[in-house]
Amino acid sequence: MENIIFIAPPAAGKGTQSVKIKDAYHLAHISTGDLLRAATKENTPEGLLIRNLMESGGLVSDEITEGLLLKRLAEQDCDNGYILDGFPRNIKQAHDYQELLKKLNKDVGVVIYLALDKEIARKRIVGRESCANCGAMYNNMIDTMKPKVAGICDKCGNPLSKRSDDNDATFEHRYDTYLKETEPLLEFYKQLGVLETVDSNQDADKVFSDIVKILDRRKKWLI
Ligand code: AMP
Repeated sequence: MENIIFIAPPAAGKGTQSVKIKDAYHLAHISTGDLLRAATKENTPEGLLIRNLMESGGLVSDEITEGLLLKRLAEQDCDNGYILDGFPRNIKQAHDYQELLKKLNKDVGVVIYLALDKEIARKRIVGRESCANCGAMYNNMIDTMKPKVAGICDKCGNPLSKRSDDNDATFEHRYDTYLKETEPLLEFYKQLGVLETVDSNQDADKVFSDIVKILDRRKKWLI
């Protein structure tokens, strides 16, 4: 049993890698971005506030995010280990999480930093498109990832859609937020001795095989 935290700039592939790890190691996948996106679907003042913050590229409040996370961590599938995809995102959240782990008598596990160049991150984000019908992902700014027909899913013919926060202005804000708020976590986890780094400029399969090497070296899966 193992817990994994991903720290990564936008578009480094933490969502993609989380799904691959979830399938290979049977861990729960907790994406705070997904939890928050689900909360925006509720037509409440809080849902609207969350949507505005997410669309601006800033962070949602620690209180709201941690409330959703606590509920999710209480679900049974988290008992055998989980992947935190998008949490913690700042030093306050990291401290709060350490307190929680102490209360639950749990170990932080391994923290994996997915390193990515800013200009590659921009292309991956601004060009990103997905199919709401079958989940296929495309990128209209990266030649090897373009759909055969612009705006249409190769697999099922559905029109492709974009996340509302995947545009150039929001990218700049999200990247700045990452540098100011999230990057300092690298030093925090380095001091705890749990930080591992993977080069995320490579293709997703190579990134995954580098992560597998780290996880298998830790050999906590058989416990
Ligand atoms: P992601 O799907 O991880 O790229 O997150 C999308 C957006 O959700 C971020 O730009 C933030 O606005 C919000 N978000 C996700 N995780 C957190 C978090 N741990 N704390 C605050 N805001 C978050």
